[in-house]
Amino acid sequence: MIESNIKANILSEIDRRKGEIIDFLRNLVKIPSIVGHEGDAQKFIERKFRELNLDVDVFEANSKELRKDPAFFETTSYKNMGYKCRPNVVGKLRGTGKGKSIILCGHIDVVSPEPVSLWTHPPWGAEIVDGKLYGRGACDQKGGIAAMIYALQCILEVGVKPKGDIILETTIEEEDGGIGGALATILRGYTADAAILTEPTNCTFIGVASAGVLYFRVKVSGKPAHASVAHRGINAIGKAIKIYNALVRLNRERQRRIKYPLAEKFAPDLRGHVTTLNVGVIKSGDWPSTVPGWAELECRIGWPPGEKLNDGKKQIENVINKTAMTDYWLRRNPPKIEWIGWQAEPSEQDIGHPLVQTVKKYAKEVTGKSITFYGGHAGLDTRHFIAHNIPAITYGPRGENYHSVDEYVEVNSVVDVTKVLALTLLDWCGYK
Ligand SMILES: [Zn+2]
Repeated sequence: MIESNIKANILSEIDRRKGEIIDFLRNLVKIPSIVGHEGDAQKFIERKFRELNLDVDVFEANSKELRKDPAFFETTSYKNMGYKCRPNVVGKLRGTGKGKSIILCGHIDVVSPEPVSLWTHPPWGAEIVDGKLYGRGACDQKGGIAAMIYALQCILEVGVKPKGDIILETTIEEEDGGIGGALATILRGYTADAAILTEPTNCTFIGVASAGVLYFRVKVSGKPAHASVAHRGINAIGKAIKIYNALVRLNRERQRRIKYPLAEKFAPDLRGHVTTLNVGVIKSGDWPSTVPGWAELECRIGWPPGEKLNDGKKQIENVINKTAMTDYWLRRNPPKIEWIGWQAEPSEQDIGHPLVQTVKKYAKEVTGKSITFYGGHAGLDTRHFIAHNIPAITYGPRGENYHSVDEYVEVNSVVDVTKVLALTLLDWCGYK
């Protein structure tokens, strides 16, 4: 429970600072922080955390330590760039004691804005038109980062002292699996009684599930020959198409079988599509007059909670091996499967947990709308917290076009999320 005068003070402090919150967000959006290049934006955050007098920790992930965790996999950005100059930033406020602690975490990395020529508003311009702030990362998820920082700042400004510890984190490479980001902060010792990840959720949704995500490559071999005597060779493209068709059939069978109502809440067209197996890359051959001796398919499969990572791997292995057995060449030259990049288990947060109910209560109070639980259609960093026994949800502002052109966040929704988070912090951590 929060006393009504304290609640009123904090809400009016947040309204008073609306311009400052939006300026902070605009400056953050103007710093490009594409996965692998998070350093400059993290310096900006570090300065802000120091201004707030938090205990600040800026650290690069240690890949040796990460490898000991069962969730570890080598991310693409780590393979290409390592973790140097890509720190995570943590700012901790020590509570006065005897309160519950909480982590507010946002990922600083954004995806590429290409093709930039299609944007109406420049991706690093942070232009505001009709209450919408445009830019790559404005919605996913720098709006949420601005909200979580100002939620704490406004509490401190009005002189309230939280009893429990409050830990703010901005982490790297969420878009790539969050191994050197959210997971690295947990392994460094930052744990709490709960965590809120400020991903965009339209203010009226609370994300309570993370999808399983698995990347894999299938290498198919053929037998090269000159095209004029193609009958002496084995065309790897033809063999790869057999594998492609088998994966399409597996996808259809899974889509008929696997249901997950929480994912359909996100968008009605997800009904019957809560799992997807996508062949995203196919490569083969290099010369029109050569029978190609090799082909590769790269694929991503995503699925909601209910099925383990290893079950998915077994289904893929089975379908590829079975298909190979029906082909005289592939039977003797079986395709090779490699697990590459994302290897994430799905996870779920119990909606009866007090954290979920606290956020729901204040989200309803601030927005005046009913609040819906959803999730399980995208891989999220929440899974790292839940795997380490920290209850975790996503909650954040409203916007559109993330991972697309003209991404924007609605400015007023950032202010609403700031309010919901501030009230949640006081209720959860207690205060003096
Ligand atoms: Zn995100």
